[in-house]
Amino acid sequence: MRITFIGASHGVPEPNRKCSCTMIEISGRYYFIDMGTPSIDHLVTAGIPVDAVKGIFITHMHGDHTNGLVSFIDLISWYFKTADPTICLPDIEGASAIENWIRVTQSKARELRYVEVQAGVIFDDGFIKVTAIPTLHTERSFAYFLEAEGKSMLFTGDLKHPDRDFPVIAKERETDLIVCESAHFNATDYVPHLRECKAKLVYINHYQSQKIPSILQLAAEIGNTPVKMAYDGREIML
Ligand SMILES: [Zn+2]
Ligand SMILES: [Zn+2]
Repeated sequence: MRITFIGASHGVPEPNRKCSCTMIEISGRYYFIDMGTPSIDHLVTAGIPVDAVKGIFITHMHGDHTNGLVSFIDLISWYFKTADPTICLPDIEGASAIENWIRVTQSKARELRYVEVQAGVIFDDGFIKVTAIPTLHTERSFAYFLEAEGKSMLFTGDLKHPDRDFPVIAKERETDLIVCESAHFNATDYVPHLRECKAKLVYINHYQSQKIPSILQLAAEIGNTPVKMAYDGREIML
């Protein structure tokens, strides 16, 4: 499986980083964690058919995680019509909001498969199983635990603070990859929690530039688990 950070910035774009958007490829099928930046541009540039996108999992409704979803749904409504992904939204009202926007643009949204995210398994197509874990960043925000090809990954999404809502599943189960955010606190705040995890690899995503020294310090303190910084275009093979 291949994980690609399309956008690794925090709440606003940086000169070389777009807003949150991560793509996962499994056997020619594509899945997204958040879509804070238009992703069809990336798919077309990379030569990936848009109808290979099978699932979109939004961690919470803030614009830096959803703005690209509006353009995705607009484009598959009138052009890439064979695309039929399951779209998992923490707040299902987002579906009618996007449909209304498309109506205002003198177009019509296609009927699509929307799922309102609840705690527990929200998606399993035989290729990837996605479990949602509530966090405290907003009233309805979620981390995602993903299982595919015998591997497992945790995407924390945005957190209130690791001491309050770091998902305990990563302490109970081995993970091949943990992707953490560091927009709202220093990366070193993860130290006691990551020490309790059996993770093979940690990536810090969604970080502000001034947090980079704390990411380097986290890497030094965690020791034998590699801690890396996400940046746009970075690919991980698991
Ligand atoms: Zn965010
Ligand atoms: Zn947020």
